[in-house]
Amino acid sequence: MNGGGAGEGSDGGGRDSRAPAGPDLAERKMRFLFQLRSRGVTDPRVLAAMEQIDRGAFVRGHFADRAYEDTPLPIACGQTISQPSVVGLMTQALAPGPRDTVLEIGTGSGYQAAVLAALCRRVYTVERHRPLVAEAEALFERLRISNITARLTDGSFGLPEQAPFDRILVTAAAEDPPGPLLAQLKIGGIMVVPVGQSDAVQTLIRVSRTETGYEYEEMRQVRFVPLVEGLGQG
Ligand code: SAH
Repeated sequence: MNGGGAGEGSDGGGRDSRAPAGPDLAERKMRFLFQLRSRGVTDPRVLAAMEQIDRGAFVRGHFADRAYEDTPLPIACGQTISQPSVVGLMTQALAPGPRDTVLEIGTGSGYQAAVLAALCRRVYTVERHRPLVAEAEALFERLRISNITARLTDGSFGLPEQAPFDRILVTAAAEDPPGPLLAQLKIGGIMVVPVGQSDAVQTLIRVSRTETGYEYEEMRQVRFVPLVEGLGQG
């Protein structure tokens, strides 16, 4: 009821109208890419993947008209789709190659998995909420993305039956990089993971596995939902 008038696209408030407002779709998408670049996403392969994968397909309901804003948004099961610039920066830090097999922890909306799938050979993505897995699988099928396998499982333990992985991306915050995930990384592999107390600002860490151990590099402050043990209810 309160979305009338010729409003601008973004008001930052709780506007619940889905009426088109502000710039048209093509212009919103252009701004989306411009904003990614201005926030440090400069890798041309990552930008091309994020141009190709339409974030609008992964955001539903009240928030659909905000899909091209650089902001995290609520999805089902009380979770969030990450901020696009953070998706871009994490993907860039992960540097997935075209022949890589990547494990993502925290499917959520499926957006990050789809971006990864545009850049590598195969993505395994795991999620603890059954409805999110089902919705993401349906979406991958509708978008004809065939190199993603989504599984309902507690990602703290990784996916031992498909290990080791060239790259691992964790999209929920852990207190420390989980041991099973470190173990499932190939030598020469890279893991990107937000580390810190849940409900606080966390630090994004890039872990590289070498012949002799692991190297840790702190990247930037981020804020993710926590990595929670066990499967979700429903
Ligand atoms: N990558 C997602 C955003 C994820 S939000 C996207 O692109 O939309 C983090 C997700 O991690 C949530 O969906 C949450 O349910 C999931 N999660 C939290 N702990 C988990 C665990 N132990 N195993 C698997 N998924 C987990």
